[in-house]
Formats: sequence, structure tokens, C-alpha cells
Amino acid sequence: MRSALGHWNTGLGVYLAACLAFAAHAQEAKPSAEAKPSAEAKPNIVIIGTGGTIAGAGASSVNTAAYQAAVVPVDKVIAAVPEVKNIANVRGEQIFQIGSESFNNQRLLQLGKRVSELLKQKDVDGVVITHGTDTLEETAYFLNLTLKSTKPVVVVGSMRPGTALGADGALNLYAAVVVAASKEAVGKGTLVVLNDEIHTGRDVTKTNTFKTETFRSPYGPLGYIVEGRVLLYRLPARPHTVQTEFDIDQIKALPEVHVAYAYGDMSRTAYDGFVKAGVKAIIHAGTGNGSVSEFIVPVLKEVRSKGIHVVRASRTGSGVVIRNGEQPDDKYDWLVVDDQNPQKARILMALLLTRTNDSKELQKLFWKY
Ligand code: GLU
Repeated sequence: MRSALGHWNTGLGVYLAACLAFAAHAQEAKPSAEAKPSAEAKPNIVIIGTGGTIAGAGASSVNTAAYQAAVVPVDKVIAAVPEVKNIANVRGEQIFQIGSESFNNQRLLQLGKRVSELLKQKDVDGVVITHGTDTLEETAYFLNLTLKSTKPVVVVGSMRPGTALGADGALNLYAAVVVAASKEAVGKGTLVVLNDEIHTGRDVTKTNTFKTETFRSPYGPLGYIVEGRVLLYRLPARPHTVQTEFDIDQIKALPEVHVAYAYGDMSRTAYDGFVKAGVKAIIHAGTGNGSVSEFIVPVLKEVRSKGIHVVRASRTGSGVVIRNGEQPDDKYDWLVVDDQNPQKARILMALLLTRTNDSKELQKLFWKY
């Protein structure tokens, strides 16, 4: 239970209320009579539950922003959307029950390896992952870069718990299953589905703390889901899944890469702390075009002299960081991200470091992915 919600009922009370609400919808909602493939012909989709708001519950129907995340088991979340049975044979699998802010490298690897295992099974045609929205984009980008399969993988979440008025989880889950079961999603990399939109895991990011239209890609979504139909308008341009040099099955651990956020009056404390902790690279979430204040330049030069990579990124949320633009990267042997935001740069840098430590090679790979 979040501390701010200490006046609420116990977790058990919230959990029971949530189960009742989910069960009520499941009873009311009848699968529609639309023409769909026969049971045998339906694709088999595994829905992996990791927690988040899509598995959340509030004390009342007006709690759209204050509630407890990660309390409803994935099977209950699925049972509340019987319409998915028209689309696919689905089964749930609970891997975690956490808020996505509690994802770490170890959980990321555990999830990736399980998805990979499932995708190798003949009787699995696609995977949907229910996920908290806070770090959903990091997981999606990681899977997009490391899974070795063309079968669809869709990461889905919701901004409102299932107990709330205007809950978005049920429709999002339905849409995610539609996409995971579709031919259109084959070979497109890890996709993210929320709010009727399909995004590539590479580009999408959470842009708003509470609105249901929070997930955006700087270049727009790949497409929409409208009444159970997948409408694609663009394709991912950068290498993903089977096209990359990263293989989730081969990765035993991810090197420590951390992000330092820049602002006026920035101090060197964060950098010193990361160096002391033994990180392999620091993502400098710089102001503007990855700029570095005059008093932090010597700190970053010091960091690099210790063999730790410095990656200039931007806190602006979009755009390309230009090499040798704001800073002489060639001279300092620093790296720049292409257009990835700092949290995605962390994922990419950790993966790149499993392949090479050569800064010229690392720079090329940043521009590739
Ligand atoms: N912080 C929680 C999480 O990311 C809830 C937010 C959400 O899922 O929308 O899992």
C-alpha cells in the first residue's frame, strides 16, 4: 500500500473490491457475434502479467489517479475481457506483480528470457505483456532489441485501474490481443498498444502523468486498432529483434549504466557517486542538445579518463544530439545518442557494452539503433 493511501482499507479489501468489479464486467460483457475464426484456427496468445495499473484497483470508481497498482492477478484481468476469446486462445502467466518503477536489470532479463522461451514454442503465436506504464517504454525497447523471433510481442498497460469510471485497461488489453494475433504485427518488432494506437517499442515514450493519451512517438504511431481491426500506416525503420546483434538467450547480465540529469547549478555529486559505484557508462541527460555546463565539462573528462563512457543525451524529450555540436566529442572521446531519450539510451548502452568497449564502434551502433 502506498504510504499516501494509508487511510484506505487494507490491501485485502482493495483486492476483493477489484476482483468483484472485474468479475461483474466479465459477467455483463458477452463476446460479440462478429464473424471470427473457428476455435482451432484461432492464434494462441500468452498474456504475461507483470503488474502496473492495468492490474490495479482503487477504493472507489472515482479513483482514477489514486489507487493501488499491481494487485489483480493476470487471470482476473483477462477474465474481465471475455471479448479476447473471439480473437485468440489466450492463457495468462504471472511473472511479477509489481509497479513498473521497480523493474531492474535482473527482472528485465528474466522477463525477456521467458518471452523468448514462449516464442520458441510451436503452440504460441504471440505474446502480450501487461505492464505498468512508468517504465513500459524501457521494457519494450529492450525486448525490441533482444528477442530473436518474428512472432508478435505487444506490451500493454493502462492509465486507470479496472475499478475506475472510464477504465482504459479492458479495451487496451483487447486491442493488444488483436495486434498480437494479427498477421500485420509479424516481423514488426516489439509493439506498444494503448489508447487505440500501435507504437514501435523503439520510439514510444510516456509523456503525461495521468492522461490516457500519454504514450506518444516523436514520429507518430505506426497505426491504430479500430473495432478489432489493425490499421498500419508506417513501419519501424531501425533494426529490431531478428535483425540485431543482441540475443536475450545469450545475455547473462547487463553492465551498470546510469543516468545523470542536468539542470542549472548542476553539481558533480551524481557523477562522483556513479564512478564510485563502478558504473561502465554514464548517460548525461543534458540540457538542450546534450549540452554540458562549463563546471561539469572537467568532471566528465575525468570520468572518461577512468575508462567510463560518457554519453551525451538530451532531457528535452525529442530530437537528435549532434556529435561535435555542443561539445567536441571527438576530442574528449565522448559519445552522443541519436534520438533516444536518456532512459532508452541507458538500455541501448548496456546492450552495446555486451558487444564492444570501443568508442568508435559504440558511436556507430548508437546511430544504427
Ligand atoms: N507506477 C505504476 C507502474 O508503472 C502504476 C502506473 C501505471 O501503470 O500506469 O506500474
